[in-house]
Amino acid sequence: MFSKTLFSMRMKRAHIISIGNELLIGDTINTNAAFIGQTLTHLGVAIEQVFTIPDDYSLIKRRISSSLEHADVTIVTGGLGPTHDDITKKVVSEIFGSKLVQNERVLNHIKKIFFDRGFTLSPSNIEQAAVPDVCDVLYNEQGTAPGMWFEKENHYLAVLPGVPYEMKYLMEKRVIPKLKSLYTDLNIRVTDYLKTAGIPESTLSDLIGNLEEYTNNGVGVAYLPNPGGVTIRLSADGTTAEQAEKKLLKLRKMVYKKSGDFIFAKQRDKNLAEVVGAILSEKKLTLAVAESCTGGMLANELTNITGSSAYMLGGVVAYSNSAKSAMLSVDAELINQFGAVSKPVALEMAKNAAQKFGADIGISTTGIAGPGGGTAEKPVGTVWIGFYLEGENFALKTVFTNNRLVNKQRTVMVALETVRRRLLGIKTYPYELKPHFS
Ligand code: ATP
Ligand code: MG
Repeated sequence: MFSKTLFSMRMKRAHIISIGNELLIGDTINTNAAFIGQTLTHLGVAIEQVFTIPDDYSLIKRRISSSLEHADVTIVTGGLGPTHDDITKKVVSEIFGSKLVQNERVLNHIKKIFFDRGFTLSPSNIEQAAVPDVCDVLYNEQGTAPGMWFEKENHYLAVLPGVPYEMKYLMEKRVIPKLKSLYTDLNIRVTDYLKTAGIPESTLSDLIGNLEEYTNNGVGVAYLPNPGGVTIRLSADGTTAEQAEKKLLKLRKMVYKKSGDFIFAKQRDKNLAEVVGAILSEKKLTLAVAESCTGGMLANELTNITGSSAYMLGGVVAYSNSAKSAMLSVDAELINQFGAVSKPVALEMAKNAAQKFGADIGISTTGIAGPGGGTAEKPVGTVWIGFYLEGENFALKTVFTNNRLVNKQRTVMVALETVRRRLLGIKTYPYELKPHFS
């Protein structure tokens, strides 16, 4: 009785095996494993190991045989196509001691694809319709290679094509429904993605402090940094969504209490420009930008958001000194005296952008994106971001890295985060920068 309960409640463990020489040498990024990892995790199946292996018969055989024995579920992708390097089907057929038999439904499907495109069928295309006689065919309406499902003493194996959209289709339409009907008592995982901006990972974790007493019994926390900011991931497992949600409450409350000001979104797919846009809409404020070092990236971020025409009036990419004077009326004397990357120029650009476009808010960027062009006084990565916010004119100075693209992305993030904090009345600036007023 006791052991039966233990067994039924046992966590199901999965292995993911990605096959293909192109994955090992880095020509193709293994996005399949990432997708399968996310999908199975969401389902409540734990990913125990991910393997990437070449198109090599004996390695594929050893790997799949071992995973079939040790994991509850094994998902294999790649090597199902018609070319000579696609050998996965032969290997699994040998592992199960089965024969390859022609599947009429698959053959008709392949014939139809070729007929519709006006191509003639080759022997290797016909071979794609042969499947091991012991598998369940995972019919693939999106391509020519069918997926295959095997079972061996309560261990399951899905073999899927490598083409990402075909793999996704078969995971969603065939594999997930099968796993759901086989495993009815999986734990449910509830996950929060709390997105922060303008605070380094170490500062954030110091601020939040030790969470040991909150992270037990299936509750976990992780810091995920990227150029747009740090995401705090909170998760809890439970037998129902309600139970998992309940377990997460205390931790979530605690994290919000300590770092709430820095959290701009609670959903993983929400970005800062979207959040700033919603605040501007709600407050009925408008915005214009004057960009030098970001070259239009700030305007691009802002206008990626549906409905941005309600608040985004326009922008100027004034890259040269003369453009800054001609398009934004920045005094040429000011540029001569202080340089284009300076507080007075950033202030002028922001104020004049707001005035020329008739906007409530003006934002400007001027900096040395790098990797060349730095001086001792103004090293690469030096950026001034100017603000004109309802009559108030100030600028922030920061020194980022010597990576051009990262500098542009961070400048955009700091600019947007400054607007967010100011409009919500948050007293701090991104990265604790000090505002310089005119
Ligand atoms: P096909 O029927 O098209 O030949 P296949 O099962 O043989 O499919 P592969 O030949 O291994 O698959 O790969 C097909 C395409 O999918 C290639 O462009 C490959 O780079 C890509 N691909 C394969 N595996 C992955 C993976 N793990 N992640 C992302 N892309 C992948
Ligand atoms: Mg291949």
